[in-house]
Amino acid sequence: MTDSRPLAPLALLDLDSLVGEEERAIRDTVRTLVDERLRPEIAGWYERGDTPVRELTREFGKLGLLGMHLTGYGCAGTSATAYGLACLELEAGDSGLRSVVSVQGSLAMFAIWKHGSDEQKDRWLPGLASGELIGCFGLTEPDFGSDPGGMRTRARRDAPGDEQSDWVLDGTKMWITNGSVADVAVVWARTDEGIRGFVVPTDTPGFSAPEITQKLSLRASVTSELVLDGVRLPADAMLPAARGLAGPLSCLSEARFGIVFGAMGAARDCVEATLAYTRERQVFGRPLSGYQLTQAKLADMAVELNKGVLLALHLGRLKDGGRLPAEAISVGKLNNTREALKIARECRTLLGANGITLDYPLLRHANNLESVLTYEGTAEVHQLVIGQALTGESAFR
Ligand SMILES: Cc1cc2nc3c(=O)[nH]c(=O)nc-3n(C[C@H](O)[C@H](O)[C@H](O)COP(=O)(O)OP(=O)(O)OC[C@H]3O[C@@H](n4cnc5c(N)ncnc54)[C@H](O)[C@@H]3O)c2cc1C
Repeated sequence: MTDSRPLAPLALLDLDSLVGEEERAIRDTVRTLVDERLRPEIAGWYERGDTPVRELTREFGKLGLLGMHLTGYGCAGTSATAYGLACLELEAGDSGLRSVVSVQGSLAMFAIWKHGSDEQKDRWLPGLASGELIGCFGLTEPDFGSDPGGMRTRARRDAPGDEQSDWVLDGTKMWITNGSVADVAVVWARTDEGIRGFVVPTDTPGFSAPEITQKLSLRASVTSELVLDGVRLPADAMLPAARGLAGPLSCLSEARFGIVFGAMGAARDCVEATLAYTRERQVFGRPLSGYQLTQAKLADMAVELNKGVLLALHLGRLKDGGRLPAEAISVGKLNNTREALKIARECRTLLGANGITLDYPLLRHANNLESVLTYEGTAEVHQLVIGQALTGESAFR
């Protein structure tokens, strides 16, 4: 076979042909932002753990990336697929960058947009969409992650039975992205009427958010504990339309959808970096890319990458058509995070010792993907969701 011009990994299936013109324009804008503005900084932010989240949130807001597939209140109202593609490009930079957009748009903003009162929407959504405000989402607790229904955070009415009385919140949330930099937290708590959501301005007395340090994953993202010690909120701080666990789970479905795309961004970045490296690297007198063992690895990774993006685009179209069931999101989240992590690790092997440094993105992506595999439902939780859909039997407990 004669040598030919190398194809970009995602050109193998011409997946671009499945993306509309406007979606392509949004994707390309985000890709340019990542390549020109963020990629040169990301290794430093990751190493030092000092990502300028507020500055970045404002930049993302200016580009209309925050709550971008929501409508009204300054949100861009794009297709869900366009949102997914933006997540893919951001995560090609770093999972921490995509996490900023996911948590702001799909968790904090979506919770208020979907379940909030008109007053809550008017008060918070425009500032969150523009990036002037930062939001976080507090569901997980130190003892309850996969099983949030066990949560101990408690909201009680100051005067029991009086619907006009203040709420008082006590408890601890754990692993909360952007907790220490947020202006507003959506906090889920147990009440006498079941689990309810609360919009908590973070300057409310009794609220504090110590940052979690010494992470080896998502180092370019802020992760925090939320401590609620007698946090007093007005009666109208509760999200009126979210009742029970279905409230937070509806938000998680939104964020998981973005991760289906995002994980493939990290994978694509790994494959692209590895292709470039193996073409240059000489072993035993010729380029590493010319060896059959290398090509077997590259081919297998490119196949998984293309399948993952195809799956993401399919889920995007289902969501745009208003018919994306939770188990389909679980298929995407499980497959794409798992495969992206495998790809990142396999790419790392091809860079040898160079693969363990921050000069290349492989181990940074692999370390990040450990968190991405765990948050928004662990791989096992998504297996259980799919298992339940297939068998009709819940194996969660
Ligand atoms: C960097 C980072 C950012 C995060 N950001 C947020 C955030 O912004 N907001 C938020 O609310 N949370 C956030 N989280 C928390 C995340 O959602 C939880 O870590 C996740 O839900 C898993 O919970 P856990 O860590 O308590 O693990 P556990 O639930 O204790 O799980 C431990 C292990 O047990 C397995 N397991 C659990 N249940 C079962 C079962 N029934 N059968 C078999 N195996 C089971 C799990 O799959 C896992 O392997 C974040 C986490 C990380 C790492």
